[in-house]
Amino acid sequence: MKPLNSVISACPPSGIRRFFDIAAQRADVISLGVGEPDFVTPWRVREAGIFALEHGATTYTSNAGLPRLRELICAELAERYQVDYAPDGNCVITAGVSEGLDLTLRVLLEPGEEVIVPEPCYVAYQPCVSFAGGVPVPVPTSAEDGFRLRLDVIEAAVTERTKAILIGSPANPTGAVQTREDLAALVALAERHDLYLISDEIYDRLTYTGAHTCLPSLPGAMERTVLLGGFSKAHAMTGWRVGYLCAPRPIADLALRMHQYTMLCAPHVSQLAAVEALQAGGSDVDEMVADYDRRRRVFVKGLRGIGLECPEPGGAFYAFPSIRSSGLDSETFAERLLHAHGVAVVPGNVFGAPGEGHIRCSYATALPLLEEALERMARFLGECR
Ligand code: PLP
Repeated sequence: MKPLNSVISACPPSGIRRFFDIAAQRADVISLGVGEPDFVTPWRVREAGIFALEHGATTYTSNAGLPRLRELICAELAERYQVDYAPDGNCVITAGVSEGLDLTLRVLLEPGEEVIVPEPCYVAYQPCVSFAGGVPVPVPTSAEDGFRLRLDVIEAAVTERTKAILIGSPANPTGAVQTREDLAALVALAERHDLYLISDEIYDRLTYTGAHTCLPSLPGAMERTVLLGGFSKAHAMTGWRVGYLCAPRPIADLALRMHQYTMLCAPHVSQLAAVEALQAGGSDVDEMVADYDRRRRVFVKGLRGIGLECPEPGGAFYAFPSIRSSGLDSETFAERLLHAHGVAVVPGNVFGAPGEGHIRCSYATALPLLEEALERMARFLGECR
């Protein structure tokens, strides 16, 4: 047989799923491994989905997505962040940020063009750049300064082939939230080198220590930024597969053209559920965020208490402690912790080289389980030392 696609063949499977699969086979495992809310979608949103099905919302929608949903998204972005996107022209409803990211990269990139990606980062960023024919150029951030963007390192990585910079804030896996000042400096850098910015803001509602900065709200950013957002995290809707892409018209038009041929539309029922989430689900989000924050405080304090240094995670629902004091590398740490004590975490190296020496723990897990996980980790660390 002729060989299959070389770019996809060269891409290793996600390091997260491997640990998740092992964890799923054992009943006694506490999983801090998967990046999804432990809440089921709020009832009013599920009910809207059921109602939609009962009323026969089983067809395609317009390619760009339901007009009402686009209106609500653009209105919420305007109210929350003072960004001005037209529902008809700047906004495409996608099957999650995952599809939005894929469309964005394929619309922006010519073969061989480079995308700068600060690491540690979400596992899909670099594969998606490669799948779109681009070349990911990882640049480091570090725990010492709370995983701030390093503008000098980013600028040093710019070449004549650089097309875009891809960031996520609040970030998976570190929980880091970039400051307004650093993001403004990033925009200035992008202007200096005429680069696009791709901003994955799927965790925008999940911030605990300060306000979220929406990248396109910064002066000069709108015209060169693609904003990706969604419902998976804040509204606990991972399985519904609905998100959005907001961008200047030429980009949004081409993203819609691709989406038209490759996806047609995001799921109709999910779009109607998302309408309900935006119309009536604000208090649900506030309650879940308050709960994550309680867990975050207990868990981060607990990690520090058992001797693991942990940069303050200001957003998302991940802690990214250093495990260097164990003397183990992150893969060995995660494997032994899982096998000997039944706690699943993700080794930091799967998020890029600067993640080595760390583990990612999702605290979107019930508080008693987090407390039990901390006790098991303390026992494991005792054995290591
Ligand atoms: N972006 C980040 C940073 C994520 O952590 C995830 C999921 O873990 C996604 C995107 C995928 O989002 P969606 O469910 O909207 O495709």
